[in-house]
Amino acid sequence: MIWRPYQQMKKMPSPVEIEDAEGVYLYTKDGRRLIDSISSWWAVIHGYKHPTLTSAIVEQAKRFSHVMLAGTSHRPVELLSSKLESFLPKDLNYCFFSDSGSVAVEVALKMALQYCVNLGRANRRKILSLKNGYHGDTFAAMEASDFAEYHYILDARGETRRGVAIPAETDALEEAFDRNGDEFNCLIVEPLLQCAGGMRTYDLAFLSRARELCDQYDVPLIFDEVATGFGRTGNRFVSDLVQPDVLCLGKALSGGYIGGAATIANEKIFGAFYDDDPRKALMHGPTFMGNPLFCAASLASISLFESENYLEKIANIERITRREIGDFQDDRVRETRILGGVVCLETRDASVLDGYREFALDRGVFARPFLNYLYAAVPYVIEEEELVRVLDCMKEWFSR
Ligand SMILES: *Cc1c(COP(=O)(O)O)cnc(C)c1O
Repeated sequence: MIWRPYQQMKKMPSPVEIEDAEGVYLYTKDGRRLIDSISSWWAVIHGYKHPTLTSAIVEQAKRFSHVMLAGTSHRPVELLSSKLESFLPKDLNYCFFSDSGSVAVEVALKMALQYCVNLGRANRRKILSLKNGYHGDTFAAMEASDFAEYHYILDARGETRRGVAIPAETDALEEAFDRNGDEFNCLIVEPLLQCAGGMRTYDLAFLSRARELCDQYDVPLIFDEVATGFGRTGNRFVSDLVQPDVLCLGKALSGGYIGGAATIANEKIFGAFYDDDPRKALMHGPTFMGNPLFCAASLASISLFESENYLEKIANIERITRREIGDFQDDRVRETRILGGVVCLETRDASVLDGYREFALDRGVFARPFLNYLYAAVPYVIEEEELVRVLDCMKEWFSR
């Protein structure tokens, strides 16, 4: 039996059987054609069965599908690393590859902690993070998250949390640094848009102030752009606006075609590891890091991202979304949030969304609301008429 994600197996509705997929559409075994309104968890930004991505993978598979990255190297990983160096802002130049977003976060947290240790500041025990943050489901990632509905199992460890979670407000940030600035080994945030925590947005000014304080206290600043990277907020990366010391990428990095992630550090972080002392090395090495198929897909995905003018497409998605649903109101809806390629209707009560999945399936839309969040994060290649169908479906749910 397949043990499903985030699921009380005893109550699970039957999953939608997918037989084929192309563009924004999923084709089901029972003959339905569904728009994937959430891009397979934000990842499939170019849509399915894109010939460029498929052939990049096929061509690489004809040579070799995998080789370990310890003691060997290969063209796809070298090309991807140098592509990221030039594609990412400033001196975010040191790419550590891994297999998933959660692991990319684990690596970032380890880098930040060891940065402090390598500089002789082993007393920096605390992780500073944000309320409603989500950074993955592995243990350190859970510790940096603030997501009680999902991570309740952490309580069973009985340890006092080493994380301090503050609201994304400048006052709270200044107060936290005033009180504990010398005890933080990092500040980790989903910049500008908190995704799994309910598609919540906050001010860029918060990040600018965070940058200043992190500089002042020499606290590594980590941006977890696993979900926000590659245009989702309407910016290429939020890191283009304010630069972190460490950046985590995943999800859309390979266009959503193959699992894989990267943790990219700047010169300052890397420099604290670069030494004759073996104990200053970063001790991490996922078996499938830098997988050649993943690297080939990621290179193809980035070049599509550059050549297809996605930022304009995303601005257009945002414009249509605002036009169609921007001033939507219903007593059961607490707030409507729109940013870049994301829209979220937060309902007052989670039960309001019971049955939405089936309602949407009947209207040709695959959706996956969670808790009290009804959201869409569409592939960037979506046509206006298709996007309107997704948004109409969301609105119609409330007019039954
Ligand atoms: C999805 C997500 C992760 C975890 O990525 P996985 O590939 O699922 O492990 C981490 N951080 C953020 C912000 C995410 O949205």
